[in-house]
Amino acid sequence: MKALVVAAPGDISLLDLDAPTKRPAEVIVKPVLVGLCGTDLEIIDGSIDQAYVRMPLTIGHEWAGIVVDSAPGAPVVGTRVVVEGIIACGDCPECLNGDTNRCLTYDELGFTRPGAAAELIAVPAALVHSLDDAVSFESGVLVEPAAVVYRAIDRARPVAGTRVLIVGDGTVGLLAATLVRNWSPASVHVLGARAAQRPLAMAAGADAFLTDPTALEGTYGLVIEAAGVVAAAETALASVARGGTVVLVGLAGTGAVAGLPIDDIVNGDVSVVGSFSYTSRAWQSVVDLLNAGRVSFDFLVTHRFALGDWESAISTLRHSDGVRGKVLLRVGDPQDG
Ligand SMILES: [Zn+2]
Ligand SMILES: [Zn+2]
Repeated sequence: MKALVVAAPGDISLLDLDAPTKRPAEVIVKPVLVGLCGTDLEIIDGSIDQAYVRMPLTIGHEWAGIVVDSAPGAPVVGTRVVVEGIIACGDCPECLNGDTNRCLTYDELGFTRPGAAAELIAVPAALVHSLDDAVSFESGVLVEPAAVVYRAIDRARPVAGTRVLIVGDGTVGLLAATLVRNWSPASVHVLGARAAQRPLAMAAGADAFLTDPTALEGTYGLVIEAAGVVAAAETALASVARGGTVVLVGLAGTGAVAGLPIDDIVNGDVSVVGSFSYTSRAWQSVVDLLNAGRVSFDFLVTHRFALGDWESAISTLRHSDGVRGKVLLRVGDPQDG
């Protein structure tokens, strides 16, 4: 089978590999669409902490596909599915507490195990979730980053009527603008870095899109920092209302340090929290919202490439001219079983 493999940092190619063999309690899935993100670039370039990857590695951690060989209790052959990427042990204190994002044993599809940029992938049966027929594969691909966002918002638990500011206009920020609607905010403002992203922010459901932090008016009960830039984190901290919460979800790079307005945080009774990855429960919540027709992520897909055209996909991801949402690779045909 064809697979997009990083053999070593800087060495990526489309290879012919043996198809995966199914072990007990595993399901074989045919990926249909795979999304690419900045983390894939870090894997390709070798800038990711090498403790989190096992090479040679088939990339692909944002994806949706069709079951081709099932297991007891898992969706039957032909079911359209998404699959949780984090393979939590289920036994450690963090897992037993539901904090599967902090499982003491790190194992994840597309990082320590082969990912979905391949014609077939073997996955643990317990992590497979069915998609309703009305949910597109394109929305399915975005379940992974959406679960990261859902977990971040859920950590803050905003009350209805909260003014929300999202700092960042990439996939995570735009998904936050859409998902936070489920907490009935008074308004959702997006502070972006590139004016070209405005149509996506508006399609996400933002009430306002700004690129100038000095144009922000008033303060916000919930601020989500999704840009992963020191200045953006400082803007987030400066924009929160008394009693409000700042959730940091963007990674700014190892060692990046932002200034902390200590007195404002204390006097403002402000909560500042980080949110890492997603829990199994957050993933299920996103799938439930999609299957209930309460959200769609279709608006976010702007670029589509065939698997054989992976070099164009990666170069599109590296160069951010014009409007850019999710970049997808079409890996398999949804029709031919
Ligand atoms: Zn990603
Ligand atoms: Zn665990």
